[in-house]
Amino acid sequence: MAAKEKTLEDLFLHTLKDVYYAEKQILKALPKMAKAAESEELRLAFEKHRDETEGQIERLEQVFQILGKAARGVQCEAINGIIEEGKEVMEDFAESPALDAGILAAAQAVEHYEITRYGSLKTWAGELGLRDAVKLIEQNLEEEKKTDLLLTKLAEARVNTKAA
Ligand code: FE
Ligand code: FE
Ligand code: FE
Repeated sequence: MAAKEKTLEDLFLHTLKDVYYAEKQILKALPKMAKAAESEELRLAFEKHRDETEGQIERLEQVFQILGKAARGVQCEAINGIIEEGKEVMEDFAESPALDAGILAAAQAVEHYEITRYGSLKTWAGELGLRDAVKLIEQNLEEEKKTDLLLTKLAEARVNTKAA
């Protein structure tokens, strides 16, 4: 007899654990990115998003509760790699005028990862009929999108300041 067939609910729970782990890693990385940033605006953006991330983790805990499961993370090699790359940029470009450009790009890679995960989770929560979970996930998704947009603006402002 083959192992019990996995369901969409299993996939949803696994991905929820994945993003829960990712958010916890991001919560630790954001203060380091804030500290490394040259620009005051970029530092403030990271500090604000760190606070938002705490709220996002709480929302994920509510989703675990809806499922009747304990809030637990699973290692996500993707976010580990993205954060590791960011660390490398911060070290290698510490004294460089391109430092903020590198940090911005690393931060946007994080946001884009989160956006893909929350996009899938939201769709699956809808398919599973978990209406309250859809709302919670959507709030996280919107915060990630807003953060990504702000980072794009800061990256463009950086380029324009340099050109002036
Ligand atoms: Fe997040
Ligand atoms: Fe992952
Ligand atoms: Fe984020």
